[in-house]
Amino acid sequence: MNTIDLRSDTVTRPTPAMLAAMQAAEVGDDVYDEDPTVRRLETELAARFGLAAGLFCPSGTMTNQLAITAHCAPVSEVICEATAHVYLWEVGGIMHHARASVALLPGDRGRLTAAQIEGAIRPTNNVHYPTTSLVCLENTHNRGGGSCYAWEEMAAIKQVCEAHKLPLHLDGARVFNALVATGQDSKAYGQLFDSISVCLSKGLGAPVGSVLLGSAEFIQKCKRLRKLFGGGWRQAGYLAAAGLFALENNVARLADDHRRAAQLAEALRPLPYVAEILEPETNLLIFRLDESRLTVADFLGRLEAQGIRASGFGGSWVRFVTHLDVSDDMVARVIAAVAAL
Ligand SMILES: *Cc1c(COP(=O)(O)O)cnc(C)c1O
Repeated sequence: MNTIDLRSDTVTRPTPAMLAAMQAAEVGDDVYDEDPTVRRLETELAARFGLAAGLFCPSGTMTNQLAITAHCAPVSEVICEATAHVYLWEVGGIMHHARASVALLPGDRGRLTAAQIEGAIRPTNNVHYPTTSLVCLENTHNRGGGSCYAWEEMAAIKQVCEAHKLPLHLDGARVFNALVATGQDSKAYGQLFDSISVCLSKGLGAPVGSVLLGSAEFIQKCKRLRKLFGGGWRQAGYLAAAGLFALENNVARLADDHRRAAQLAEALRPLPYVAEILEPETNLLIFRLDESRLTVADFLGRLEAQGIRASGFGGSWVRFVTHLDVSDDMVARVIAAVAAL
């Protein structure tokens, strides 16, 4: 029986068609700016989001941290949500790379409001404070259970940023999930965000890679920082080809992942050991167990024994993630398994 891996959408393996596209890629030395496939991926993705330039990198952590470092002046502060990936899961990189302070705001499933952000901007006429230099949003929000921003709220946040001359960065690791779920226009994102980080290795199903998008000048600055981080790479076109393949073939199908996450939520809802579910908006399903009935360790262990893997998500919380390698048959198997616990 095949293992069903619901731990993350990063666990997907390239399909034979994606591997064929990778093998056929035209490549060159990317540090010499000579890899045509990397160039094509960067240009195509930038155009999709209405921004001028792109930078292909090994990970979303690198694209986020490059952007934050490039945006931040010395002795500054970044505003982000308290459970944002850039703060929680990037090894304290804001402190290490940008040497910036962080203003953490509590979100509604990870979402911030324009009013909250406005209230956190430091006055500039007081020597006690760092200078606010960047606002970061995350869409969809990972810790918030794949929640999406409404366009109106992002636009209101942009207005606040403009009024205070602050750049706005988007951690768009799963921005394609947000686009598919909300029907928002990717090109319009370029009017809101000064920089966007997009992961190809999550729901899109590429084996490796993220792309940072921004103005030509900003991306040039980040390219130098990428070299400083040790991220200058060579015939990366083989990996970029997987990204291009993913953009062409794996975006619309994200709706299937969203439907499957909703089906799993539906199946969990009546179970006596499930205390709370964050209603899935996309492919991330986070729920809390009533551990007086079933502990997280038991739940995960008993599923694992049936070839079903999931993640403990802190305390009594568990996360299921649907993705390219989770079929309808597999969802049916999971539904049967959780009902029988
Ligand atoms: C996965 C993820 C990233 C980047 O992670 P890497 O593993 O470094 O590619 C960034 N932000 C969010 C919200 C993520 O889920």
